[in-house]
Amino acid sequence: MRWTNSYIPTLREDPAEAELISHKLLMRGGYIRKVTAGVYNYLPLMQRVLLKITRIVREEMDKAGALEITMPVLHPAELWQASGRWDVVGKEQMRFKDRHGRDLCLGGTHEEVITDLVKGELKSYRQFPKNLYQIQVKFRDEIRPRFGLIRGREFIMKDAYSFDVDEDGLDKSYNKMVDAYFKVFDRCGFNVRKVEGDTGAMGGTGAHEFMVIVDTQGGEGVIYYCDKCDYAATDERAEFYESSNDTKIEPLKEKELVHTPNAKTIAEVTAFLNTPSKKLIKTLLYLVDGEPVAALIRGDRMINEIKLKNYLKANELELADADTIMRLTGAEVGFTGPCGLKNIRLVVDTEIYGMRNFITGANKTNYHFINVNHPRDFTFEDIIDIKMAEEGERCPRCKQGILKSDRGIEVGNTFKLGTKYSQAIGAKFIDKDGKEKPIVMGSYGIGITRTAQAAVERFHDKNGIIWPKPIAPYGIHIIYTNSSDKNQVETAFDIYNELKEKGIEVLIDDRDERAGVKFKDADLIGIPLRIVVGERGLKDKTAEIKIRKSGENIKIPLAEIVPNALKIYEEIC
Ligand code: ATP
Ligand code: MG
Repeated sequence: MRWTNSYIPTLREDPAEAELISHKLLMRGGYIRKVTAGVYNYLPLMQRVLLKITRIVREEMDKAGALEITMPVLHPAELWQASGRWDVVGKEQMRFKDRHGRDLCLGGTHEEVITDLVKGELKSYRQFPKNLYQIQVKFRDEIRPRFGLIRGREFIMKDAYSFDVDEDGLDKSYNKMVDAYFKVFDRCGFNVRKVEGDTGAMGGTGAHEFMVIVDTQGGEGVIYYCDKCDYAATDERAEFYESSNDTKIEPLKEKELVHTPNAKTIAEVTAFLNTPSKKLIKTLLYLVDGEPVAALIRGDRMINEIKLKNYLKANELELADADTIMRLTGAEVGFTGPCGLKNIRLVVDTEIYGMRNFITGANKTNYHFINVNHPRDFTFEDIIDIKMAEEGERCPRCKQGILKSDRGIEVGNTFKLGTKYSQAIGAKFIDKDGKEKPIVMGSYGIGITRTAQAAVERFHDKNGIIWPKPIAPYGIHIIYTNSSDKNQVETAFDIYNELKEKGIEVLIDDRDERAGVKFKDADLIGIPLRIVVGERGLKDKTAEIKIRKSGENIKIPLAEIVPNALKIYEEIC
């Protein structure tokens, strides 16, 4: 491809709205342009990257036995009402009415449509297992569309759905997809970490996320992993081993009301009472689908709202505001505690169980209780892990290792859905024993557009993108430094034609631009190998090969440039 025939509008300056380096580079490299929040044009270079990722995904899905189909983007509300998700997904779903006033939405995922598709079609155990997939645009009205293609409102996803007769079958289908995912990301040029994920609004019995580890703020997701065994989980899901509480043996002391003027936060209370935050219990008041719930965690811990929400099987969960707190507890924010709270469900973190003589809010402005003990001073029924994991805690699996954390971008995930959708929508089959049973399902997503940008977030330097070879828009980028030098132009085009004949995807910068501009743009767009035909080189009949990744420059006699370029191209990963 000649640069002048393509459409590569590179920019000198970073676009103001881009925070992430990958977002900046894709904008500056002429890969993407924003249309509106979370909605982008994919320009020719981007389109090539996306097609390459798509091709890898398609090949690995096909190899794993999945069958490609295309489902509609436009969904009737009835399907989503049937699964019960119309009310759960809420504002993230793009909704509108047709001319007859019927409710429709744009698909953000396709469990409903596919379950309805196989309902009545997959009828006998003999037809299983099956796996159907598509690669298609998805719509989600994200609360915070940001970071370019990482969190868009319109994006491309591969979504696959498996159908089995029982849990064993699902396990096999699931593992096949997990294997395929490792192959996909490996072929795209990066390692991913498979971590346990939350099942959230999807429902179901198990989930994993596939994360590209990045050490930049592009890692929207935090994962915890064990330094000894293979335990790894997202922050939404991660747990840790709770060693028995060392204050357990303390004799119980008398509960006392103490005046703690203006001490509202954990830091203020611990400073005032000169005590470690571990001795405190935080009581967080939530409205859960409109009902008040108090969540209790140790003072030095962070609440994990996902765990709380899952446990309560809630749709909406929000912290109560100051007025609600006053109404429910009779005190200002900062003085809530479990003693004497009436008609409010208490959900207590497991770590609190063994604690003795702790401090809580007294439900009286400017007062706390010290030496609180359960069940003497308050009782509860719901005891469950509702805290965030932390680095340095012990691994919940091997109990030996220490938890560490990393930031990553989730590029894919896998869910064991079980029978949630088949039951709701009535997708049943007749099993060997003649009995009617709901189909056992799995669902498997890969963000194609997110994967493309994750690659940039993972592989770049201060000058631009460094594409992994398998997903680079072109393989080799040829530059001549002076377009009025006929000899240079001819030599460059000879190399260009020869490489093209050998099946390499080549971009030649045929613009009438200064060499400096061409070099800058070449670094920016990040094609793995560059060949430079310049004045000095031609004098001693050489050209230069530059490897984008290592920055290495190699001078090569013109007569041997093509075989050498091919060899180096072959060797670089
Ligand atoms: P997240 O936790 O990041 O919101 P999710 O759990 O909603 O992701 P899924 O519904 O499982 O994601 O979608 C499958 C894949 O689609 C994700 O792994 C991710 O790669 C991609 N994806 C999800 N939401 C977006 C988005 N808003 N923009 C781009 N890609 C997305
Ligand atoms: Mg999401």
